[in-house]
Amino acid sequence: MSIRESTVKRLALRLKRLAGARRLGNISKAEMESQRTQQIKQTWNFLESLRRIPEELRFATYFGLGDWWMFQKSYHPNMCRLCDFYGDVSLFNGKDLRGTFPHLTVVDEDTIEPNVHPYCGCSLSRIVESQI
Ligand SMILES: [Zn+2]
Repeated sequence: MSIRESTVKRLALRLKRLAGARRLGNISKAEMESQRTQQIKQTWNFLESLRRIPEELRFATYFGLGDWWMFQKSYHPNMCRLCDFYGDVSLFNGKDLRGTFPHLTVVDEDTIEPNVHPYCGCSLSRIVESQI
């Protein structure tokens, strides 16, 4: 099964469970709807981020526990506060990357554009564990 198929399958399972919980009266209608929207959004962002990985780099790992990324500020005069903040945090684990930067684009094996906002010039550079 491809990563896309298993992701969609997982979403279907979660939505089924939500509907079940609603039927049993364990959650309110509003709660079910908000959770459903959130689940669909997350899955959508994940599938979108997969689409932005160039074909030839699909097998490199970016989002694993063993992948570490350093946020490089652009220092552009219009750099936003959020980028400034990320630059100060600076170190990100692969598993948190998609959640933190849902609009990211993989450029090459060692570079990711976080696209914090349109025209964000910042980047994420891979660092190896011995450098941490
Ligand atoms: Zn930026």
